[in-house]
Amino acid sequence: MRKPIVAGNWKMNKMQADAGQLATAVKSELAGFNGVEVVLCPPFTALVAVVRVLGKGTIGLGAQNCHWEKEGAYTGEVSVDMLKDVGCTHIILGHSERRTYFQETDAQVNRKARVVLAAGLTPIVCVGETLAERDGGTTEAVIKAQVMGSLAGLGDDLRRVVVAYEPVWAIGTGRTATPDQAQAVHAFIRGLLGELGGADVAQAMRIQYGGSMKPSNAAELLGKPDIDGGLIGGAALDAASFVQIVKAARR
Ligand code: PEP
Repeated sequence: MRKPIVAGNWKMNKMQADAGQLATAVKSELAGFNGVEVVLCPPFTALVAVVRVLGKGTIGLGAQNCHWEKEGAYTGEVSVDMLKDVGCTHIILGHSERRTYFQETDAQVNRKARVVLAAGLTPIVCVGETLAERDGGTTEAVIKAQVMGSLAGLGDDLRRVVVAYEPVWAIGTGRTATPDQAQAVHAFIRGLLGELGGADVAQAMRIQYGGSMKPSNAAELLGKPDIDGGLIGGAALDAASFVQIVKAARR
């Protein structure tokens, strides 16, 4: 059985002190809770503050991006080894905000996924269609191109990847995919993962849903057979909301 995974993407929010407080609240509310892998993804500047709170406990620490080279002349970038050195266990890759505002491509996401896997960390690879693409009937074609392009050639490491299906029209909009809409795309993605790595690998891989998930809609979404957790933006900035979603993810 796949262990659900819920990650909080704090985006460009929280100073160090606030981040430490939020992590402290999440950690204490989840003390003794198990059955769900939980990851907090603060901005780079708050990673140290959060790892001081989390220590070597069960809650993972995630970054929101990384570079694909190990080191070198890449002003403003951060390498996987640097993130590992700080204590990161997971790295979000290809978030739609990075694809939209920083023109990140599937080929770049693929290079990043390779270095993250080689370092022994878990990549959370985001895919999702825009509203125009959904309305134009190209959701499956878009998702297929993103999944195949981002996850090509990973070999046995593919099974360690977490995929996040995040319809762009549902991110930060308050508009959520219906559980049936989300389930349909998750099942489609699992089929693609089967083409890449075989049916056994596809069955073992976790696919998160992201896009305005909150306590009021989490249980219904997470109850779908191919939805293995959530990537949470806005609701992750509030400890009580995030913890409620984590608890709804337990199978
Ligand atoms: C996200 O950005 O990954 C996300 C899902 O955001 P929100 O929950 O705010 O829609």
